[in-house]
Amino acid sequence: MTDHSVPWGGQAGGRIGHHASTLLSVAVVAVVAVGLFPPPGLLAVTVPVALFAFVIAMFLLMRQHDRSLCEHCMLSMPLDAAERAARVHRRFWVAHSGSEPRILLPYLAVLVGSNFATTPYGRALWAVVQLSLIYLLLASATHRRLQPWCPWCRGGGGGSDVDETPPVLPHDDRQLT
Ligand SMILES: [Zn+2]
Ligand SMILES: [Zn+2]
Repeated sequence: MTDHSVPWGGQAGGRIGHHASTLLSVAVVAVVAVGLFPPPGLLAVTVPVALFAFVIAMFLLMRQHDRSLCEHCMLSMPLDAAERAARVHRRFWVAHSGSEPRILLPYLAVLVGSNFATTPYGRALWAVVQLSLIYLLLASATHRRLQPWCPWCRGGGGGSDVDETPPVLPHDDRQLT
């Protein structure tokens, strides 16, 4: 249980893990770009495979990062964390709802199912659904950073019950559509 048992080269892995959610967001954009505009020739096969491997690696690093105490996270803790937390309530809600099976499972079904869309509208829907992952990643990254101020974690005990009315979809943050 020492810090030195961390795979993927310890410190370097930790630093990449710290940015894994950002790198994952970039990978999602790349996946959508490749899906909409397939590269020519052999690249049409190799690029998606490489992207897939990259996504898996980043996901594992992110999980590892989330389970351990990260010094980069502690150093980047904003001084006005409480105020910031109050402004990103919606992201907290998304982070909690996103881990609920009754929301997560249908979401995953749409995420996977939209891959089979072939019509132009279907492809557009596919792109939007894939890009919505980025918001989910951002929300969980924000939640992880400001967790001590999360009202659902504090009030809900285990943090899994979301009993407040869901807010309307974000429009003050960066829009994804
Ligand atoms: Zn970190
Ligand atoms: Zn929480």
